[in-house]
Amino acid sequence: MNTLAFSSIDQLKRKISSKEVSTSELLSFFLRRFEMFNAELGCAIELFDQESLSIDSQKTGLLHGIPGIIKDNIAMKNRKLACASHMLEGFVSPYDATVTQRLKEQGGISLGRANMDEFAMGSSTETSAFHKSFNPWNLACSPGGSSGGSAVAVAAGLVPWALGSETGGSVRQPAAFCGIVGLKPTYGLVSRYGLVAYGSSVDQVGIFSRTVADSALILSIISGQDVRDSSSLQQPAKDYLHLLQNRQQRPMTIGIVINSIETDGVNPEVISALSAAIKTLESLGHSIKHVALPAIEDSAAAYFIISRAEAASNLARFDGVRYGYRDKAAKTLSDLYMHSRAGGFGAEVKKRIVIGNYVLSAGHSDEFYQNAQKVRQEIAQEFEQTFKDVDILLMPTHPAPAFKIGSFATNTLQMDLQDYFTCPINLAGIPAISIPCGFSTDGMPIGMQLVGPHKGEEELFAIAHQFEQATDWHKRHPQAYM
Ligand code: GLN
Repeated sequence: MNTLAFSSIDQLKRKISSKEVSTSELLSFFLRRFEMFNAELGCAIELFDQESLSIDSQKTGLLHGIPGIIKDNIAMKNRKLACASHMLEGFVSPYDATVTQRLKEQGGISLGRANMDEFAMGSSTETSAFHKSFNPWNLACSPGGSSGGSAVAVAAGLVPWALGSETGGSVRQPAAFCGIVGLKPTYGLVSRYGLVAYGSSVDQVGIFSRTVADSALILSIISGQDVRDSSSLQQPAKDYLHLLQNRQQRPMTIGIVINSIETDGVNPEVISALSAAIKTLESLGHSIKHVALPAIEDSAAAYFIISRAEAASNLARFDGVRYGYRDKAAKTLSDLYMHSRAGGFGAEVKKRIVIGNYVLSAGHSDEFYQNAQKVRQEIAQEFEQTFKDVDILLMPTHPAPAFKIGSFATNTLQMDLQDYFTCPINLAGIPAISIPCGFSTDGMPIGMQLVGPHKGEEELFAIAHQFEQATDWHKRHPQAYM
């Protein structure tokens, strides 16, 4: 096996400090992996040239010389930022997002821009205006989305870490589809400054990694208050990795969300993988409690409305005048607006803007938007109430393993339901992590989702790490890239 390609950050750091490999060798090695495999995987929209990266890789710090990749909706100074859309094609960011800046300060370098669904709208990375991404476990399957490119890069051993973004599940679902770890932090824990907005009240930067400990390391670097983001939580950064490594694990009460398992529509292989995982957790001394969260059944509908409403207002700025692609042939101002927006945005984005404006329009906003907000409140309260009885919740990340590319081309409702088990967590603003917990009989990864209370990342990491140590799922890699 190609040990370097599938090493965790921690293992790579050891190799660097024992001089087994130098940082410049690592940089060339991972760039070469992209050269070999990016054409078939489609995970990066752009790769940066080695010379420009070499300067950044000199920086010492917690990620000294450890390459990763950042999603194309997170700003990197003097690099293009397109959100995989023609609307922003050619735009060069004049500044770093806070997360980018914090990673750079610790020596972390992004080798390029990871592919995504256009403006993070989608669950398959098929709506990228540039090209699709493909699941390294089976190229006929979707890697999930919208952060599909980031997930593929980690899963295929092209980088050990990647950043994605979450609005309704865009890190956890691709992590589950690709057999890696995906974290969605508590809303406000990680700055959104420099993350192109989709649904501002739900957006969060998320992390892909091979191990839970690596996720804790990256979160320690990127989290913490940021005065440039008014929704940023007022608390100092925590060293989650240190906390994880120095923790005496106590027995926890794990709430199994019974209506996410005993329900129609969840693939039996997912259920059996989860049942085995529950047994493992019990054998580690944790107790199990069955809980019902009926409000999650309304989440996808509430998320649908809230995300479209916020998208419509956030994307209003891309009008060819203030931002974005401009149709230079337009003769009148209204033609300029109309043709620029029609030419710049892809079909999925346009559809969402239309729906968003409709649910916010006079006469309809009470029925749709205000009601969706009420449901959102109920969901948050239900979680809060449940966390009085349990420490952590467990549910599937996704009802089934990765689907084939093109599966939902004509059934967009089915595509929207991809967020069924992930979006309640975004609506409630709480943290969740997806970790590998099994494989289907045709060899596709299955993910399990652990959900924590508000700011419960420490507990989440602890239990996810303990499960990871007791199992081997995270050690499996797609054969073709080993
Ligand atoms: N699939 C969801 C959507 O299209 C989630 C996307 C996301 O989390 N960015 O809205």
